[in-house]
Amino acid sequence: MSYKYFDLIVIGAGPGGYVAAIRAAQLGMKVACIDKRDMPGGTCLNIGCIPSKALLHSTHKFAEARDNFYQQGILFDHLRADLSLMMQQKEKVVQGLVQGISYLFKKNKIEFLNGEASLHSSHEVQLTLATGELMILETPKILIATGSIPTPLSGVVIDEQRILSSTGALSLKSVPQSMIIIGGGYIGLEIGSIWRRLGCEITVIEYSDRIVPSMDQEAGTALKKSLEKQGVHFKLATQVKSVESSTENVRTIVSSILDSKDEVLESEVVLISVGRKPFIQGLGLERLGIKTTERGFISVNNHFETNIPGIYAIGDVIGGSMLAHKAEEEGISAVEFMAGQRPQVNYNAIPAVIYTSPEVASVGKTEQELKEAKIPFKVGKFPFQANSRARANNDTEGFLKILAHEKTDEILGVHIVHSEAGTMIAEAVLALEYKASAEDIARICHAHPTTSEALKEAALSVQGHAIHI
Ligand SMILES: Cc1cc2nc3c(=O)[nH]c(=O)nc-3n(C[C@H](O)[C@H](O)[C@H](O)COP(=O)(O)OP(=O)(O)OC[C@H]3O[C@@H](n4cnc5c(N)ncnc54)[C@H](O)[C@@H]3O)c2cc1C
Repeated sequence: MSYKYFDLIVIGAGPGGYVAAIRAAQLGMKVACIDKRDMPGGTCLNIGCIPSKALLHSTHKFAEARDNFYQQGILFDHLRADLSLMMQQKEKVVQGLVQGISYLFKKNKIEFLNGEASLHSSHEVQLTLATGELMILETPKILIATGSIPTPLSGVVIDEQRILSSTGALSLKSVPQSMIIIGGGYIGLEIGSIWRRLGCEITVIEYSDRIVPSMDQEAGTALKKSLEKQGVHFKLATQVKSVESSTENVRTIVSSILDSKDEVLESEVVLISVGRKPFIQGLGLERLGIKTTERGFISVNNHFETNIPGIYAIGDVIGGSMLAHKAEEEGISAVEFMAGQRPQVNYNAIPAVIYTSPEVASVGKTEQELKEAKIPFKVGKFPFQANSRARANNDTEGFLKILAHEKTDEILGVHIVHSEAGTMIAEAVLALEYKASAEDIARICHAHPTTSEALKEAALSVQGHAIHI
């Protein structure tokens, strides 16, 4: 057994952990970052955000060429998609970014240790290296950033052949003829879009009567309509009773919540994407009495410190929005608190993006949340049909909606449905962060012709005088 000392030990090298490790090193700490995977990057880089976006991009280009290029006067013969080349491209992107983190670790003199960590005491981490060697690492501060894993569906075994998790569904070797997706959240919709564009029959089963129930209802309805036009089928308010696979196919028995009628669905594969749960197995939280919530998330105070002084937690493992950029903000804040600074994470200004076609991006409150909270608000809406750049690009699907306080005019929420929504939301995040009013945005000059002019027009529409509608 060997021993080592660090000022900070970060457990988990996902976007929360690796970013925290870099910031801590910048603040002068001697840092170790541990991960079970032999490469840093966590769920996000290895099996989540990046591989899914690489495949979404490749398949989007393919579908654009197949379905839309002729409208721009671009004609060609024999277009085809080569799945193995698409997968190679995805791997290349992942490897490149993962190597980038290894470079940043070296640059910041962070020691990356590949192995499984558990809490030995409040100032010691036990590490079983991938080689089998045991180490005890001593430290005054531990940051838990162990992320999350897919929530299983009771009684269903994921074999990654016929019954898939998101990881398996992002690595298929051939395009399945049909896929049933259990769970209409953003991961299911993104993965469904990838395979639909390549010709797979997609049916999404969702327990709620809406897809992505946390999303603004109007945006959700628009996205569902658009996906239906692309050939995605939805069974909402539907419960899954059983999923059984054989060598030929998978039989899924579902039941409508409205009339309790059972239906048998057959498909080549099934994707289980019913959410994610905190990854706390084997960490030894019980040994130190670290408190968790009822759903198993690690409880922290507003400095990200657990009930055990010196042990902190951030990212998916503490719950809230399970998003990479939220984990990064928390990681930076946690180590800045450790260094005596007074940072702040504004949870109201964390954007969320669904990278479907069109994308849906939002920040702040939805109409439903404002109504529930009895906050009076005005709505300003602008359709991309009336935006000149969207027209020039033949990309007019969607709208931009601003919700502003009825009396103060402060922007409370922005919801965008458009192919560039994920990029456009940044200006709305800035507006919320600086507590801008709709009039502030309406008076800012936006370059012409750009899709960002839609934000200005929606802000003008809050004032009742949009120019182009
Ligand atoms: C298919 C998919 C697509 C996604 N797309 C997006 C997206 O577009 N945008 C977005 O913002 N988010 C997206 N997410 C969510 C995003 O990946 C997570 O929110 C993010 O990775 C959380 O970061 P984290 O640092 O908290 O944990 P993780 O990234 O999960 O990293 C935790 C790391 O800890 C390691 N670990 C766990 N326990 C131990 C232990 N005991 N010892 C050593 N190591 C351990 C794990 O191996 C893992 O590498 C997606 C997720 C999936 C699955």
